[in-house]
Amino acid sequence: MNKNLLQRVKKLIENGNCTPDNYNCAKCRDLGYVFVTNEKSSDVAMPCSCLAEKEAFEKLEKCGLSEAFKKKTFANYVCENPYQIKAKHQVMKFCCDFSNNNSSLLICGRPDVGKTHLGIAAMLKLISDNITCKYVEYNNMIVNLKQSIMDEENHMREMEKYINPRVLFMDDFLKGKSTATDLNYIYRIINTRYLKQKPLIISTEKSLEEILYFDEAVGSRIIEMAGENVVLFGKDSNNHRLRNLSK
Ligand SMILES: [Zn+2]
Repeated sequence: MNKNLLQRVKKLIENGNCTPDNYNCAKCRDLGYVFVTNEKSSDVAMPCSCLAEKEAFEKLEKCGLSEAFKKKTFANYVCENPYQIKAKHQVMKFCCDFSNNNSSLLICGRPDVGKTHLGIAAMLKLISDNITCKYVEYNNMIVNLKQSIMDEENHMREMEKYINPRVLFMDDFLKGKSTATDLNYIYRIINTRYLKQKPLIISTEKSLEEILYFDEAVGSRIIEMAGENVVLFGKDSNNHRLRNLSK
């Protein structure tokens, strides 16, 4: 920030007539900067902590979640069974470890156990930590990719929506019947993300065996990226043998 601007901002902060209550951030009065005195006794502008919060808010706006989905947090995930409690803890641990291991998360289980809810809760936690996340429903993604196929430029743009985000949540992976074309899209997205070390959150009704059977290259990459963060609901939840299928 240049010196004149810095002086003006400082004056504004000192002479502001409004009470702090009128600002979203009383600390910097919504200017995004605070002043600290450095070792040479001169004031320097430093980014205010509210900047990170603002960035996280913008990430939330662009993450692809509906308003209803944005309410699906860990706090309101209802655990009715021991395996739901276990699943919730596993997903919370995934969030805690994320900045250290950049791991993916794979949530497998039958319908109505709350796979989507947990995936979204994880996504919201990562966004609050200022990590860019994008939500997409698997079938919508496939339809969008198919519809754009006639126009190469458009198709590439569509593809990039699923390749570029830091974290992509693919909800209801492999739902319905998949064709060879679908597999081609999925392979390109998952393989590119694998090579670029960009994590995925995946929810699916398929078992690990079914994912590997669908396509071993895709399945083994997903399982490798998820590592310890494979959540298996219900009776499969203690079946560690399944985790070694890709090895
Ligand atoms: Zn502030």
